[in-house]
Amino acid sequence: MNVTPADGNPRVYNFSSGPAALPLPVLEQARDELLSLPGCGASVMEISHRSDTFLRIIESARNRIRHLLEIPDGYTVLFLQGGARLQFSMVPMNLMHGEGRSEFIVTGHWSKAAMHEAGTLGPVHAVWDGEEDGFNQLPETGQLSLDPSASYVHFTSNETIQGLQYRQEPDSGDIPLVCDASSDFLSRPIDVSRYGLIFACAQKNAGPAGVTVVVIRDDLLERSSGSLPAYLSYQVHATHNSSFNTPPTFAIYLLDLVCKWLEDEMGGLGGMAKINQEKAGLLYELLDNNEDFYLAHARTVDRSLMNVTFRLPSETLEKDFVEQAEKNGLTNLAGHRSVGGIRASIYNAMPTSGVEALRDFMEQFRGGGR
Ligand SMILES: *Cc1c(COP(=O)(O)O)cnc(C)c1O
Repeated sequence: MNVTPADGNPRVYNFSSGPAALPLPVLEQARDELLSLPGCGASVMEISHRSDTFLRIIESARNRIRHLLEIPDGYTVLFLQGGARLQFSMVPMNLMHGEGRSEFIVTGHWSKAAMHEAGTLGPVHAVWDGEEDGFNQLPETGQLSLDPSASYVHFTSNETIQGLQYRQEPDSGDIPLVCDASSDFLSRPIDVSRYGLIFACAQKNAGPAGVTVVVIRDDLLERSSGSLPAYLSYQVHATHNSSFNTPPTFAIYLLDLVCKWLEDEMGGLGGMAKINQEKAGLLYELLDNNEDFYLAHARTVDRSLMNVTFRLPSETLEKDFVEQAEKNGLTNLAGHRSVGGIRASIYNAMPTSGVEALRDFMEQFRGGGR
């Protein structure tokens, strides 16, 4: 990639789906503190994870996440490694119990992958599967007939590749609800009390690659069997306050800075959600007004506010679109290799000005493409 915007600013509007753009003030603070954390005389990367300085950072990150999400008592926040992919294994390893199968709501690439992985460890069942329709919609809660003896129900709150996002989490009754929130974590307020477990790799919306946040209801910690390899047991990580082994210290530090930015500059998750609504609205409005040229992938009510996916009349035009956008400092707009088309990922850190620049580009491109 070789992009030099005309105004000399070395930073482009980066629509990468992940690892994705980080808030500029966070990067600036990290740069300023890279050689020496204030009062510490060393980089955060160079100090013990058991030092008071780092313990304050990890505690701060935990508290900010609790505060931002208004996590009620009775839940534990863990910082793990291995990305969301390891959670595809850890969740079934820890939560499958007895004969109970796990139920999956298969709405796109990531929930399908999670079910496949869980299926190597125990019985799984797709309670709903949108693949026949090209994964362009989510089920209504009424469409789900869940097995009351299920170990848990897994869903993906935002399908990053297809661009589908639940407005409201599915109702799982008394069955623990497990959510892969990797690509919309901290993008809006949620009612955590409805969930058994939430996991999210950080590199889409919450920080850099390397740390994965798990929020788990405490009674579910008891399901972790003592015969699991230690690193794979939620209970072990909870008992050791996420420092059973050396945690990804630099990633947790950045995660803390992102949370602080959300609190101080974006008005918390309520404020952030409003901005995310407005940003996505700009693009969807343009798509809706130009349906003969831009074809939105997702059904209107299920559209993602994080990943806006659409197609153009031909693959040649799509290729052209991506190339010309890049020349205008709007990068990483190609859809995932498995589905093609265009995908604009507009997570928390994408400023409204970036979305406006994309919208203006799209208007102009449409004019030329006719
Ligand atoms: C990116 C992503 C994953 C995979 O994350 P890794 O950290 O690469 O394992 C899983 N689920 C969703 C929803 C994602 O967006």
